[in-house]
Amino acid sequence: MKLVLLGPPGAGKGTQAVMLVERFGIPQISTGDMLRAAVKDQSPMGLKAKEYMNSGALVPDEVVVGIVRERLQQEDCQAGFILDGFPRTVPQADELKKALSELGKNLDSVISLEVDTDALVERLTGRRTCGACGKGFHLKFDPPGADGRCSVCGGELVHREDDQEATIRNRMDNYHQQTAPLEEYYRTENVLQPVDGMQEISVVQQQIVSVLQAD
Ligand code: ADP
Ligand code: AMP
Repeated sequence: MKLVLLGPPGAGKGTQAVMLVERFGIPQISTGDMLRAAVKDQSPMGLKAKEYMNSGALVPDEVVVGIVRERLQQEDCQAGFILDGFPRTVPQADELKKALSELGKNLDSVISLEVDTDALVERLTGRRTCGACGKGFHLKFDPPGADGRCSVCGGELVHREDDQEATIRNRMDNYHQQTAPLEEYYRTENVLQPVDGMQEISVVQQQIVSVLQAD
């Protein structure tokens, strides 16, 4: 199964991707996670990406396309993958198509998670991530342990620097300008499958699974 999860920041792509990984045993490819790891390691790519990410801008296409191309060639992607946060521009989608066709593959489905803007802002301001194991939480909708630490590993929770309200606005604007055109792009390719992302996390998961199984 070769999937893309499309949707604005805070739509629930990462949350749903982790659940799909468990269910289908295929890897999540999150360009956001890969870039944050590069920033943490202070690698040359991380140093280049950091300013863009902190201001809520997109990292240049050639940087993300390079990391996705490399990742798709790895053995664990042979049976399928879940792209989370990529592609985010039309040139990225064109490059993805090219990379997959070189590997003799094509996308099975692009799940588009639809969520109202007000809900997105609430989700992002309340999002917390475990600094140790990476598990995601929400202070209200998916709360951590009573001690305010990660309920899986006890690690400390962090509030992403780009989840502050001023940066969120930039990210939303960038989404509408640069990423939203991908809905039409994939509708034209007959792979776009909209899912109502306003429901509870487990209900959204059930809907994604039923959409995929109807294929
Ligand atoms: P994305 O990867 O699309 O940016 P996340 O999966 O990180 O979004 O979700 C953003 C925040 O919203 C997280 O704190 C997550 O716990 C919460 N969340 C995800 N899905 C839902 C949902 N269906 N209802 C309420 N909160 C949600
Ligand atoms: P995310 O975790 O998906 O919300 O991504 C966090 C940040 O990483 C984004 O705001 C961008 O700065 C950068 N990023 C992640 N994926 C991409 C992408 N496909 N293209 C450009 N920038 C990206």
